[in-house]
Amino acid sequence: MIDAAKQPALIESLSAILGGRGLSIDPGEIAPWLTDWRGRYHGAALAMVAPANAAELAEIVKLAAITGTPIVPQGGNSGMVGGATPDTSGTALLLSTRRMNAIRAIDPQAGTVIAEAGVVLQTLHEAVAVHDMRFPLTLGGKGSATVGGLVSTNAGGTQVLRHGTMRALVEGIEAVLPDGSLYEGLVTLKKDNRGYDLKHLLIGAEGTLGIVTAATLKLVPALVDRAVVWAGVESPLAARDLLLLLEARAGREIEGFEIIPQRCLDNVLRHIPGTRAPLASPCPWNVLIEFARDNPSAMPPDALAETMMTEAYDHGLIIDAAISASESQAEAFWKLRDSISEAERTEGPAMQHDISVPVAEMARFIIEAGAKVEARFPGTEVAAFGHMGDGNVHFHVAAPKGADREGWTAGPGKEISAFVHDLVVAAQGSISAEHGIGQMKRDELARLGDPAWINAMQAIKRALDPMGIMNPGKLVTA
Ligand code: FAD
Repeated sequence: MIDAAKQPALIESLSAILGGRGLSIDPGEIAPWLTDWRGRYHGAALAMVAPANAAELAEIVKLAAITGTPIVPQGGNSGMVGGATPDTSGTALLLSTRRMNAIRAIDPQAGTVIAEAGVVLQTLHEAVAVHDMRFPLTLGGKGSATVGGLVSTNAGGTQVLRHGTMRALVEGIEAVLPDGSLYEGLVTLKKDNRGYDLKHLLIGAEGTLGIVTAATLKLVPALVDRAVVWAGVESPLAARDLLLLLEARAGREIEGFEIIPQRCLDNVLRHIPGTRAPLASPCPWNVLIEFARDNPSAMPPDALAETMMTEAYDHGLIIDAAISASESQAEAFWKLRDSISEAERTEGPAMQHDISVPVAEMARFIIEAGAKVEARFPGTEVAAFGHMGDGNVHFHVAAPKGADREGWTAGPGKEISAFVHDLVVAAQGSISAEHGIGQMKRDELARLGDPAWINAMQAIKRALDPMGIMNPGKLVTA
């Protein structure tokens, strides 16, 4: 419990550690950071602290541990589940990593970069590109999302098919643990069997087990070129068969495989200025495929795409396809995909579910679960789109026409989400494929998670954070 009598002394001690630049108790200055990206959660904070380095951060955490003060880590605040928003009690320290933003080292030979927690993803991309290298993870929020946030949510994005999620790209971590001690694990070791892997415990922990201060990340060679294909298909089953064909024949060159129902494309074309239909006639479903080459002696991606699409057409897997003829056309295809949520918002309210099932089952899941939801909740419309190659789609359920946003979301919307999550669990899937649990899905995880696993997570939380100060109310309650 927070000790109120010690609060003025706590602020004084924080000020001694941080000085004017790293501490704010001005409500106006803190206010913009107390609401999450989607505007669904609003919190309050005792102060906002922005340490300049891990040593300052360790001192802050020691103070918080002595006084029982909750700490809520925040990077770019682009998370989707309210994970970086404090509760409304006003007792927490909002811990911004924005001043810990140095890129400490880039080693092209080892294929690694050491970046501090506050480095923004786009900045990281640009910094390593100078060395002809690439950090192979990208997502729509790249202008805000930070290394610390990406690690702590085990972020995915559009290149997981080939390069994996953050878990596959993090080679080392430096972090301040809940007692204020500094874990220095940045060195990359190919083999290391010294017991529990703290690095993997911290990845995806959403700031509940400690605060990541820096990470060693894996790099790959810069791209030589790429080709983006927009193909029309009859159904998700045809899309799955196309994915299997491509993986068998061109697996290494495929970075992304996204599915898009025609209804989503129609919304985008209707609401997003400057967009154009990529195919001559609409098809029931669409897939967007990225072919990329980082080895100059490999087949050029446009030639490979042409060969693969001809083969797919001959097998009856696609109806039509367009291959990007330039980088701007490749970008235009991706813009159609990336604008789906924005276009959807102008149509009306929708319940959004970031879910995964085994890759081979996803096509059937989209068809069967979509039909079940629309039958059980008349007037709703399901749109499942996104990272089909990873077995992960954004399963959105649009409200019946004319539904009141607030009322529908808080009432029938909640019932729909529980129904969708039950279907996902029945299909042995995950109710959070890439966005995390935060406060949004905490109760659903408690309801649906394997009890043995939930108990183990709670035990780990209690053992590492006995005071319960690290991002309380998120992910799992101890
Ligand atoms: P924040 O939102 O600040 O924090 C996220 C969580 O991490 C919180 O629980 C916070 O407490 C914790 N945290 C932050 N920094 C630290 C730290 N240093 N140490 C410990 N804990 C910390 N995500 C995907 O996975 N795939 C996508 O395709 C994708 N697309 C997106 C598209 C858009 C337009 C937007 C806005 C977001 C998208 N996201 C996506 C979600 C988001 O960008 C990621 O979750 C990202 O990892 C969040 O980074 P952040 O720095 O903004 O973290």
